[in-house]
Amino acid sequence: PVLRVALMGLGGYANRVADAMQACTKAKLVGVISGTPAKIKDWQSRFSIPDKNCYNYDNFDQIKNNKDIDVVYVTTPNALHHDQVIRAAAAGKHVICEKPMAVNAKEGQEMIDACKKAKVKLLVGYRMHFEPKTLEIIRMRKNGDFGKIMFFQGQCGFTIGDPTQWRLNKQLAGGGAMMDIGIYAINGARYMTGEEPVWVTAQETKTDPVKFKEGVDETIQFQFGFPSGAVASCLSTYNMNNLDRFFLDGQKGFASLQPSTGYGPIRGYTNKGELTQPHVTHQTVQMDEMAGIILEGKQPIIPVDGEEALKDLKIIDAIYLAVKTGQKVALQPV
Ligand code: NAD
Repeated sequence: PVLRVALMGLGGYANRVADAMQACTKAKLVGVISGTPAKIKDWQSRFSIPDKNCYNYDNFDQIKNNKDIDVVYVTTPNALHHDQVIRAAAAGKHVICEKPMAVNAKEGQEMIDACKKAKVKLLVGYRMHFEPKTLEIIRMRKNGDFGKIMFFQGQCGFTIGDPTQWRLNKQLAGGGAMMDIGIYAINGARYMTGEEPVWVTAQETKTDPVKFKEGVDETIQFQFGFPSGAVASCLSTYNMNNLDRFFLDGQKGFASLQPSTGYGPIRGYTNKGELTQPHVTHQTVQMDEMAGIILEGKQPIIPVDGEEALKDLKIIDAIYLAVKTGQKVALQPV
């Protein structure tokens, strides 16, 4: 069977996912949800989408009567994910939601609960969880190749352009760089070390309070402590370029990725040499793997479900609290 996907929010990332899905063997784009009729027309002709699989934001609850769509993939601005995922679940469809799943942990929990209640699966677009070089480092770490893990460093950022875009609007983005790009360092710290942080400290700097308004973070440095005693040091920014690097240090070895989360090719090496796993189109592999998870109950090596995303949201809440209070914030051991 093939996973039949409807994309919601036909913007930049939806286009990338749709193009990548053309090469999928287990997932297929069959429907769209958009507020812009001209975009729907364009997508219908590009991807051969029938009229009966096209919806707008007013009528998309009717998707529940559509037997030819299995899953709604939400690729709208962050703050809209919560309501849209809950509506899709209520319509009886599985949901794939882009990162960040929501703009805080409370909303994330509500989305998980809604999907549970509707008996549908909730997955989050963590494409790095299927990336071959990333998975090789995780295999090596589990195999003990790096020895006891002591330190992770994650640096994620870029210089953001147009000040009027939704990413710089707190109402739609839920925050700033942390929600968009810093989340990769948070998620990476967790999958690279294989541990969940028990404390967080964080410091914010803002050079441009006009562009980065109240509640929209420009640059945050943050640190984690893990149960083993390992620590992490990370940077999230919308005001520096060339920041896409992970470094994992153990007592017997190390792993380095740069770029670490870009669309690729990912490049990496360890104390044992260059990583040579092939470059893949992340979204193609992600969608084929997610088809396996949804249709066949396949278990991914690194989880991509709502509970996994909630862990990142709890950490984001803690980082913002640490910035605000200047205090070390304790996280519940998982
Ligand atoms: P975008 O601005 O290119 O697209 C957003 C789309 O949502 C647009 O088509 C817009 O018309 C639509 N939209 C619907 N309702 C809207 C409203 N009320 N206000 C504004 N736009 C509205 O953004 P994008 O880069 O495609 O990002 C979309 C989501 O995908 C975000 O959550 C982002 O974090 C995520 N994303 C993930 C990755 C990844 O690698 N996993 C990469 C890029 C973006």
